[in-house]
Amino acid sequence: MYFDQQAECMDRALLEQLQLERLQTTLNRVARNVPLYRQRFADLGIDPDDFRSLDDLRSLPFTTKQDIRDNYPYGLFAVPLRDVVRLQSSSGTTGKPIVVGYTGNDLRRWSGLVARILAMGGMTRDDVVQIAFHYGLFTGGFGLHYGAEHLGASVIPSSGGNARKQITIMQDYRTTALCCTPSYALHLADVMEEMGVNPNSLHLKWGLFGAEGWSDAMRREIEARLKVTATDNYGISEVMGPGIAGECAEQNGLHVNEDHFLFEIVHPETGEPVPDGETGELVITTLTKEAFPMIRFRTGDLTRKLAEPCACGRTFHRIARIMGRSDDMLIIRGVNVFPLQVESVLLAVEGVEPHYQIVLEREGRLDKATVYLEVSENLLFDRMRVAREALDKIHHSLSSELGVSMDVVFVGRRTLERTEGKIRRVIDKRVL
Ligand SMILES: [Zn+2]
Repeated sequence: MYFDQQAECMDRALLEQLQLERLQTTLNRVARNVPLYRQRFADLGIDPDDFRSLDDLRSLPFTTKQDIRDNYPYGLFAVPLRDVVRLQSSSGTTGKPIVVGYTGNDLRRWSGLVARILAMGGMTRDDVVQIAFHYGLFTGGFGLHYGAEHLGASVIPSSGGNARKQITIMQDYRTTALCCTPSYALHLADVMEEMGVNPNSLHLKWGLFGAEGWSDAMRREIEARLKVTATDNYGISEVMGPGIAGECAEQNGLHVNEDHFLFEIVHPETGEPVPDGETGELVITTLTKEAFPMIRFRTGDLTRKLAEPCACGRTFHRIARIMGRSDDMLIIRGVNVFPLQVESVLLAVEGVEPHYQIVLEREGRLDKATVYLEVSENLLFDRMRVAREALDKIHHSLSSELGVSMDVVFVGRRTLERTEGKIRRVIDKRVL
């Protein structure tokens, strides 16, 4: 189902014309109002009025997270503070957080773009949408909230935490759609089991999950346990928050809202564009944002472009689900490994829970990697032969898929320490 069919199914030639016009407007706005960009354009002799093609974008420098931090808090705003009606922040895992601002127009567009993503994931105005993201400075809660209202759905702002209460609300309010992180969705499934709540007795139909990486295997697990159609979506606070890209019913890549965002995939080290279909770092330029425009922002997220037409009829190109972050890449004995690759291997094995932890240590001069993996009780205790076979299979798949050998240790359910339902995926004890 489309929320804005005219835009989402736009002819690509018209779309590119619209993108170019909007890019010119954005470049003029930042050249006029943002000292960082004014300086950079002057240094490079760039005049926004000279832009004749979208490819000219490549002549512009990247904007990095460090640029945003250096201009903390308001240095990159392109409007005076009195025109800003909302401030949010990135979840910032390292260092100083960043502040982003929105004008009234920005907020209206944001809601419209989130409404598109929700509709892509199957939701309509008839749905009862429970938003179990934290409400606060983080863009997830408020972003999805206003998008769901804009769609016309009935919105339950249950916010994060308190799993038992979330489940009671789901039962009593007859929630049909759940928005949260994928790991929290599985945590809710665990708590449902503890409470003796049968997911079939609930009214859940749709799950819209994001804000962290998750594999297709994890999707299947969530769909089976919560009885929902689970879709992925992509948002990043520096660029806007949720609403940048989302999966349609095909569950095969995320359509980027290209009338509002230009995206490029570049090589993480050289910054050069990679050929279509190859994995690289996602770079985004905003086309309509007033308060906090971003030119060629390096997201740090790794994905690839899927340019083939989609069966859903939308003409916006898709990106593959995020493979990881360029900065959470692990180097184990010289081999590049992403935690999500490990997860995909693990979840392909029956009886294995999607809860794991990778511990890296150093033995002499060599890296030693161990995967601690929660497994169902019967795999752990009852059937030693089956457990041994599963262990061998995982060990073998890991080395063939990743090109590096890891030890595998089975542990009982709910053994690995969790914070808010989340397990720390990597513990690196190597002293380098
Ligand atoms: Zn599609």
